[in-house]
Amino acid sequence: MTHTTLIGLSFDELKTELQSALNIPSYRAQQIWEWIYRFGQTSFDNMTNLPKNLRQDLTDRYTVSRPLISMEQCSLDGTQKWLLQFEDKNEVETVFIPESDRGTLCISSQVGCTLTCTFCHTGTQTLVRNLTASDILHQILVAKDRLNDWGPVTESRKLTNVVLMGMGEPLYNYDNVKKAMLILMDQNGIGFGKRRITLSTSGIIPFIDQCADELGLNLAISLHAVRNDLRNELVPINKKYPVTDLLNACRRYAEKTQNRRITFEYVMLNGINDSTADAKELVQLIKGIPAKINLIPFNPWPGSGYTCSTPENIKKFASIIENAGYMSPIRTPRGQDILAACGQLKSESQRPVKHKVTKAIY
Ligand code: SAH
Ligand code: SF4
Repeated sequence: MTHTTLIGLSFDELKTELQSALNIPSYRAQQIWEWIYRFGQTSFDNMTNLPKNLRQDLTDRYTVSRPLISMEQCSLDGTQKWLLQFEDKNEVETVFIPESDRGTLCISSQVGCTLTCTFCHTGTQTLVRNLTASDILHQILVAKDRLNDWGPVTESRKLTNVVLMGMGEPLYNYDNVKKAMLILMDQNGIGFGKRRITLSTSGIIPFIDQCADELGLNLAISLHAVRNDLRNELVPINKKYPVTDLLNACRRYAEKTQNRRITFEYVMLNGINDSTADAKELVQLIKGIPAKINLIPFNPWPGSGYTCSTPENIKKFASIIENAGYMSPIRTPRGQDILAACGQLKSESQRPVKHKVTKAIY
């Protein structure tokens, strides 16, 4: 018999499930919730404040254990990457990036991606499936296990930030992402603040509005080009959600989130989008939006066909933006030696051939 995982149920769902299946009162559901999300317990046996017979009943029916870690790699710069394998054998990558003042976990939202941004490795893998709320949370739970980051001392947490910047387009799996993020933020569990979570999107406008209303996380927009003709090519979803509409959605997002600063991600592609004219147009375009522009040196992958802008060009581009009053940090590539840097993630998971579909049609 396969055991149902309790990871990924909202607290109300957990309460209802335990009540209807085992007639467990809600204060017990609360205890179990805390064992799972506050202490990272992976076995009912160790939930010591539950009666022994209840622990057994839970073990017979459910699981709180983790997916298989099919690969664990550590970069020379300390970046760690895990390849997680779920029960259906599909795999995703999760990356932990330690810095002096924070530890950021980059999580995936889909196996593959429906979109086909031309510079992105994940974009070459068709969408295999959306991750469930359980799959999304498991990436965080596994990272906390491996980093030994459970326990009461919140000041010394290793994992302080979560970014939805791994494989997939989070806003095309919005319901599961929302559910997982609400569990992540629950004060009786992991208690992650919404200001420590960043959702990156290629610009799916209707869900940007929904996300502002329902989650209020930090928003990052994969802009990468300032004109529709070029953005249509680099980020093809632009044909459906063009630049000016996208920026208006960003204005609404900022308004609804008390002027929260929006991050614009801009991959630096040599000779493609890195001219001084592009930088000047960018500054005009984002006028009135509280913004920071992250310049991401292009990370090559086999067969990508692009090269990264020169360091001089990147610096020149940054200085134009900075002179206009915006922060424009140049992202240091991390974990390149283990293919863990932005846009390098891809798993071997394939859609079964009989279901094979061509990439999204807009
Ligand atoms: N699908 C979402 C989130 C994942 S991608 C999105 O597109 O926003 C995370 C970031 O890495 C995006 O800004 C993406 O455009 C960028 N990226 C993709 N491929 C890259 C590459 N080869 N080099 C540098 N950044 C890349
Ligand atoms: Fe998908 Fe984001 Fe890659 Fe585009 S950049 S293909 S949206 S993962």
